Order: sequence, then C-alpha cells, then structure tokens
Amino acid sequence: MARRRQLYEGKAKVLFEGPEPGTLVAHFKDDATAFNNQKRGTITGKGVLNNRISEFLMLRLHEIGIPTHFIRRLNMREQLIREVEIIPIEVVVRNVAAGSMTKRLGVPEGTALPRSIVEFYYKNDELGDPMITEEHITAFGWASPQDIDDFLAMTLRINDFLTGVFLGIGIKLIDFKLEFGRIYDENGDVRIVLADEISPDNCRLWDIATGEKMDKDRFRRDLGNVEGAYQEVARRLGILPEGASLEAIDGDAE
Ligand code: UDP
Repeated sequence: MARRRQLYEGKAKVLFEGPEPGTLVAHFKDDATAFNNQKRGTITGKGVLNNRISEFLMLRLHEIGIPTHFIRRLNMREQLIREVEIIPIEVVVRNVAAGSMTKRLGVPEGTALPRSIVEFYYKNDELGDPMITEEHITAFGWASPQDIDDFLAMTLRINDFLTGVFLGIGIKLIDFKLEFGRIYDENGDVRIVLADEISPDNCRLWDIATGEKMDKDRFRRDLGNVEGAYQEVARRLGILPEGASLEAIDGDAE
C-alpha cells in the first residue's frame, strides 16, 4: 500500500490521510504522556489495546444511537475514521472524585458524587487545558448553545451506558474525557459526533472488588504493571480471549 500522507501527530495517535475524501486513518502509538507533557514514557502494547478497546466501545455506542467518527478498524494499530472539525473542548464527566477535582476542591479521592458532574476544559496544551464554563465556550465561539445542548445530551447518555458496561465486568467508571467534532453534510447541515477515543488513557477505571486502578493513573503515579491493567480491561470486555496474551491480537492482517 502506498505510504499515506501524515496530517498530524498527537501525543498518543498519528493521523494520516484516509483512502477516501472525508476519511482519516488514526494510528495508535504506545507513547504515553501525563501532567501536560512533563512525564513521558512508553506503555508496550498500549496502542494495540486502545485501538481495540475504543473500537469496541464506539461500536456499542453506535448501537444505542450515539453518532461517532468511527468507521472500522483496519489493523492492530489503525482505524478508519470520519474527518471531523474538532470542537476545542474536553468534556469531562465525573461520578467519583479523583484527579484534578481532589486537588482543586479538596474532596478526598474516592468520594461518590451525589450526581454526575460535567466539566469543560479548553483544549490548548500551551495553556495547560484550562477549565472553562459554557459562558467562555459561547462567548469565544468555540461551540454554539445548540452544539453544547447536543454534546451534553450525548455525554450524559454515554456516561450512563458506559457506567453499566463497566459495572457488568466488575469495573467502576470513576471519570472520563470525551471530545466531539462537527461533520457538515452536502446541504451544509451540521452534525455533532463523538470523536477521539475511549480507552484507559482517558477514563479512570477501578476494579470493584479490590479498588485497584486499571487506567493511566498507573503510569501517572508509577504504580507499575500498566500494560497488565490495560490488558485486563480488554480481557474483561471480551476483546482479549481468556488466558491469551497481547500477541494473540497482534497478528491480524491489514
Ligand atoms: N483526561 C484526559 N485528558 C486530559 C485531561 C483529563 O483524558 O487532558 C481524563 C483523565 O484520564 C480522567 C478525566 O479526564 O479520566 C479527568 O481528569 P482530571 O481532570 O482529573 O485530570 P488529571 O488528573 O488527568 O490531570
């Protein structure tokens, strides 16, 4: 296959021109970063696992009517996606206090929140992704009130659905981050779709039985066995067959 033209390289993924107009190929890397790029490392096999985990969750979300950018997985590290205009906002949903919320508000980690809390951050590495409100989003034109209504409604449904998916495999969904994009159809109508990825890189997942962390916090906090935790999430989702190692899903064809 001819070498695809690289369009963008992010922290965990590289985007290439897709085979048809309006499509892209996302390549999942093993690179990991944390604390706004101050900590860098590699998690062996992470790209392969996140490609699979995100495929699985995007397909389940599609089945319940959530529009996503996902088209199909191409091989172990790549998936075909719709090209979208990314809305420069990170939408974070929290069910249990953890991470930046514990630092900002002094709420102890693990405190169950009385209701799910949605937060917005402006996607800007130079500024360290500052927290913003709906007022900033509309005042600076990053998204319209209609866009916000659309992605908020989707976010709450995704949270309820994913909470149930993970509960069913003995995992508590503590918090996660979503990104959305716009697709323009031939009439110029706009549709908001779920973009980016859903994986242990951007979710906090705790084992219900042991409380053990099964997500990127293992890397952020040097807890060890990061690969093992990502593999265990895949295994419980039924992506990695019982007893199989990563090599079992490494070998599939283009
Ligand atoms: N998150 C993310 N990308 C970011 C910031 C946060 O995927 O740039 C995810 C993170 O993995 C966690 C949730 O969003 O599941 C909430 O993150 P938090 O605000 O606690 O920030 P952190 O502790 O990661 O700095």
